[in-house]
Amino acid sequence: MTPDPLDNPQFISGIHNYCDRWCERCGFTSRCSSYAMEKAFEEEAESPDAGQQLHLKALDDHLSWTLDAGPEDADPDETEDIDDLAEMMSAERSFEDQMERRAHEEHDCSSTARMYLDMSRKWLKDSGAGDDDRSGRTSDAFWADVEQSARAQAGEALEVIQWYQFFIYVKLMRAVSGLSSVPPAPGLEDYKAQDANGSAKIALIGIDRSIAAWEVLVNAAPRHRGAMSKLLAQLTGLRQAAEETFPQARAFVRPGFDEMQSG
Ligand code: SF4
Repeated sequence: MTPDPLDNPQFISGIHNYCDRWCERCGFTSRCSSYAMEKAFEEEAESPDAGQQLHLKALDDHLSWTLDAGPEDADPDETEDIDDLAEMMSAERSFEDQMERRAHEEHDCSSTARMYLDMSRKWLKDSGAGDDDRSGRTSDAFWADVEQSARAQAGEALEVIQWYQFFIYVKLMRAVSGLSSVPPAPGLEDYKAQDANGSAKIALIGIDRSIAAWEVLVNAAPRHRGAMSKLLAQLTGLRQAAEETFPQARAFVRPGFDEMQSG
């Protein structure tokens, strides 16, 4: 029988919730259930039997959950009414979700992060410094503007910028959703506040690293200094907005990362 990839006492609970998802640079891969799961599914292609076991287990877990959660004594005559009600509630919920999402998108943190994302993508494309798929491909024309001795550092800076440009927006949107005017379900208040701080913290880490990377690039490619300075200013403003909106975020202790050395 295939061993369960999630059965490992070394895993740190919730570590993947507040990481930067850059697994190839992570020192906690051996302690992360999300990473283990991803690797197990990757092996599926090479070992169909192992994959089938995983899928069967996932299906089994899903079915048990569904059966546990279902109304065991439902009256068949009421099923149609329940279906109508469920449909109305779902439509209502979907409308509320859309309104709530719009409010989150319009929040200062999210809108500034979105603007930074659009500006940085445009600059990377126009300057030939990168492209949209994070592959880090940089044109010869851009490299011609960078001193030979600064190219390794500039290449690393471009990787960092491209890794975090989407991530910052996504994590700040999640953090902002924790500020929602809709009160969370009873018992989830602490979780929501904590999750907002944790999400804001990893977004701030991404912002810090991106600012450092832009500073490297400004020095390495002075011909592009004007455009890059605007991006730096945008990101610096975003950092300030995020710190003001989430004053507790920097103090949030991320499972694993802020508790111990990786290994
Ligand atoms: S904790 Fe590390 S290994 Fe796990 S998902 Fe995050 S970056 Fe990847």
